[in-house]
Amino acid sequence: MSGNKQTRPEPAQIQFNELGLPVATQFDDVYFSNDGGLAETRYVFLAQNQLPQRWQEHPAGSFVIAETGFGTGLNFLATWQAFIASAPATTRLHFISFEKFPLQRAELAQALAHFPELQALVTELLDAYPSPEPGCHRRVFAGGRITLDLWFGDLLEQLPDWLPTAQASVDCWFLDGFAPDKNPQMWQPELYHAMAQSSRGQATFATFTAAGAVRRGLQAAGYEVTKVKGFGRKREMLCGQLQAASTASAPDEVIIIGGGIAAASLVQALTRRNIKVCLLQRGCADGASGNAQGAVYPLLHVQRSPLAQFFVAAFGYARQHYQQKLHHNWHESGVLQLNFTPERAARAEQIAQVYAAETVQLWSPEQVQQHWQQLPAQTALWYPQGGWLAPAPAVAQLQTPATKCQHASVTDISTGQQKRWHVRCADGSAYEADYVVLATGADLVDWLPQFGIELQNVRGQVSYVNSSAATQECPSVVCYKGYFTPVLDGQHCVGATYARQYDRSKARQTQVADDQENLATLQSNLAPMTWPSELKVVHQRASERNTSRDHLPIIGELKPGLAVIGALGSRGYTAAPLAAEIIASHWCAEPQPLAAELIERLKPQRLQASP
Ligand code: SAM
Repeated sequence: MSGNKQTRPEPAQIQFNELGLPVATQFDDVYFSNDGGLAETRYVFLAQNQLPQRWQEHPAGSFVIAETGFGTGLNFLATWQAFIASAPATTRLHFISFEKFPLQRAELAQALAHFPELQALVTELLDAYPSPEPGCHRRVFAGGRITLDLWFGDLLEQLPDWLPTAQASVDCWFLDGFAPDKNPQMWQPELYHAMAQSSRGQATFATFTAAGAVRRGLQAAGYEVTKVKGFGRKREMLCGQLQAASTASAPDEVIIIGGGIAAASLVQALTRRNIKVCLLQRGCADGASGNAQGAVYPLLHVQRSPLAQFFVAAFGYARQHYQQKLHHNWHESGVLQLNFTPERAARAEQIAQVYAAETVQLWSPEQVQQHWQQLPAQTALWYPQGGWLAPAPAVAQLQTPATKCQHASVTDISTGQQKRWHVRCADGSAYEADYVVLATGADLVDWLPQFGIELQNVRGQVSYVNSSAATQECPSVVCYKGYFTPVLDGQHCVGATYARQYDRSKARQTQVADDQENLATLQSNLAPMTWPSELKVVHQRASERNTSRDHLPIIGELKPGLAVIGALGSRGYTAAPLAAEIIASHWCAEPQPLAAELIERLKPQRLQASP
């Protein structure tokens, strides 16, 4: 991936004109018409693409719209509103939009205040609006019926990242960059060819402009182009269509094996696509997913490494997912990461320069102590949108839409006739389906060697301590070499040990030495504070985390129809919801929520021993 694509997008330069409407100063052009932005959207983009009529005839599954220039999100919101009002309940909307100069949340709010009838949707969009980080940000609305993929960065630079997983998948294009004479850089043949390659069936497009170069470019890419009356005072605009290939169908039913957050996230991703799910689990949240509290925040590197890119996207998606699904069990208290060594302090300074303030901030020792006076005078990284949840109830809740949920210990997976997968369990029960996902956490080390893939487990013990007058005010998760959580039911979690060498048969047996290690790490990293030395461990829990040698999760197919999610390490709650979306998107032939190169890197085959 080019370095360029990995830099933070420049913010929009925006002013509000005498009518209070947004104008882009660097382009000297409006975001929407002074004659009525919503009416313009409905006329230019909806009506000229024959929407909502086409939604009535669309086969079950998602109707996919791609847009150049998200701007204020007005087109998206108007489409969302029309879709919910008129599309059949079996149809979903997937709206993909590219934006080079993201507006800030407050600018979005100001621009959209002109449309009172959209305000309920505006509030939801503002809550979920991504940090201005490059790449794709997937968000879901309307109870899972609407997917938004917002790609921040230059359209022509992002298209090669997006196109490989978007072939023959788009039903309709909204061409809405600023006017071609003001923004010629965007209106290029690469765009028109990408439009054609990504289109499927009887695909259409509409654009406010009638510029000859745009018409000729679209015709050269294969579109039949028509000039029609433009909106308001505009004389003409363009719309048209392209006859393209149609894509395949989605699974009817999927068997998911696993009882943790990866499996529960798959239940969510598949059931929101109206796919039946049979969940086979030995126990609910009985592995690494089962500690009393789990922190959710992005893993960042000074370089935007593939790992950091994955976690920026995964964190944004997970946060919205938990806000929507877990309600009171999602505590968005922020996460603080102390810089307990000079090396960490130096790295944190660099990290804070690379990422947006919505993602992470560098805090001074004074800010840290204002946050909580029981913390040492160290600098820290502050993740304002981070938080924590109680894992076991979260998993139980996220699993509930499963069509079938069986307590069963899977012993064998094999292909049978017609390439269906057969799953046999220790109690003699058997299941079959065209699609199966293995999401068994630490048990993957037993399943994957038959596919030539080696993963490692790491044992971890968490110690629980009673809260005290000093600790009960702890306002957020505090990370150091370990972590300390806010009080829950009178206790805090002090985590966690990290052991690579151990006897797997005794992995879940807790050890006094591990409690001592957890407390000693807290005491030394938070020195000179003395409250950590007064803590008493009241109980403890040990489990195994599953990891890969490159620390990236594994997400993808092992064989056609048999997929895996694993190696989520200590970050399952941050990674799993997007990981599940990647599997579901793949099987439903939908455009992916990450750059194609990153999707490739996540595949399990990278860990196969070379021949
Ligand atoms: N559809 C928007 C709405 O509903 O508010 C209005 C779009 S506004 C007229 C055009 C948008 O295209 C701007 O937000 C601008 O930043 C974006 N844009 C311009 N050139 C671009 C490029 N090369 N890549 C991606 N976005 C671009």
